[in-house]
Amino acid sequence: QPVLAVVGRPNVGKSTLVNRILGRREAVVQDTPGVTRDRVAYDALWNGRRFTVVDTGGWEPDASGLQAAVAAQAELAMSTADAILLVVDATVGATGTDDAVAKVLRRSKRPVLVAANKVDSERAMAEVAALWGLGLGEPFPVSALHGRGSGDLLDAILEALPTTPRDTFGGQPGGPRRVALVGKPNVGKSSLLNRLAGEQRVVVDSVAGTTVDPVDELIEIEGRPWRFVDTAGLRKRVNTASGTEYYASLRTKAAIDAAEVVIVLLDASEPVTEQDLRVITQIVEAGRALVLAFNKWDLVDDDRRHQLERELDRGLVRVPWAERLNISARTGRAVGKFAPVLDRALESWDTRVPTGQLNAWLNEIIAATPPPVRGGRQPKVLFATQAQTRPPTIVLFTTGFLEAGYRRFLERKLRETFGFSGSPVRLSVRVRE
Ligand code: GDP
Repeated sequence: QPVLAVVGRPNVGKSTLVNRILGRREAVVQDTPGVTRDRVAYDALWNGRRFTVVDTGGWEPDASGLQAAVAAQAELAMSTADAILLVVDATVGATGTDDAVAKVLRRSKRPVLVAANKVDSERAMAEVAALWGLGLGEPFPVSALHGRGSGDLLDAILEALPTTPRDTFGGQPGGPRRVALVGKPNVGKSSLLNRLAGEQRVVVDSVAGTTVDPVDELIEIEGRPWRFVDTAGLRKRVNTASGTEYYASLRTKAAIDAAEVVIVLLDASEPVTEQDLRVITQIVEAGRALVLAFNKWDLVDDDRRHQLERELDRGLVRVPWAERLNISARTGRAVGKFAPVLDRALESWDTRVPTGQLNAWLNEIIAATPPPVRGGRQPKVLFATQAQTRPPTIVLFTTGFLEAGYRRFLERKLRETFGFSGSPVRLSVRVRE
């Protein structure tokens, strides 16, 4: 979700305005300069759109004076936010500091809005026009305390913020979720599909006569319909044409792309193959939820089971978060367990961690284990926000590059706290400047 940074001198009413934007009474903690603030980023919702509000106050306590501190704040805002709100006290007018900040902000490539705060009465309106002088366009008169003008300001903020792609993922909301069933030939895909569907196979789409004739089927599991995408790929066909494998891999890719959650079927009675691992990587890269099902469990004895554990420790290091089912399409073993496992994976995939919670977590982790020094400098992690769901995508705003090892550490910690079992998680770093 897009980020709005709020900047301004102390005492202009920034925090009150932030609370007004958030639409709740939860006090933004005012802290002593020099003390790292507990939380700096918050979720806001206006007219059905979400964005993150970052109160930049208190970030960069600076020995070189107020002007430099506020200018640094503005620089930071310009490099991390999608839009910036400069708050000015209309009853005081533009001070030298305000002018200095405005000068910095005029260089911004991002939209900048000016809130003329403390306009509690008609009389105060007279002061607002003078703030055109900041050179940042029309000032918005507001009273953060009483709420006056905040609706217009919020409308303008939404207009200034970029629209993010909607989180919805095709299909009707509340409709059947989309599942792809993939795996190498003879692993038991059609057997499993038949086992799941029983008699009631319902073909929902069919575009015949094309090379990739996609066919979806609605299949009930535990009394609820699921949309299995591109099941035509699972049909038995005579593989005489050359290049069959190539088409099979295209087909697998198309099925993964069309799905929300992918079941990878593996043959438990045989060694895990490179091809299996490639498909798993493909799913992670496509950002789909993942369930691993080991079929032909009826053929697995104790020896094979131990061997398999060793193979999995080596092979599945990339996806320790994926749930596994040991099934048999032949006997029906554990086939009834798909519904809860698919549900959990999709729930993780859909999860949105509130920004406040995310930053409370982040501050705790960073206090205990700060990012490693790089090139003599310690990168600071300023705040985090979840930019997207499906899969959960977390953006960290930092003052420097974070090493891959530290990013992996953060992802591990993130999963310890928030789970996300069954879903990939993306962690991206936005470095200021
Ligand atoms: P697909 O190519 O992945 O669709 O695989 P099929 O469903 O056609 O199955 C390939 C072969 O494996 C068939 O002979 C099935 O009878 C057999 N098979 C499928 N599932 C199981 C299972 O759970 N246990 C055993 N022993 N054989 C299975």
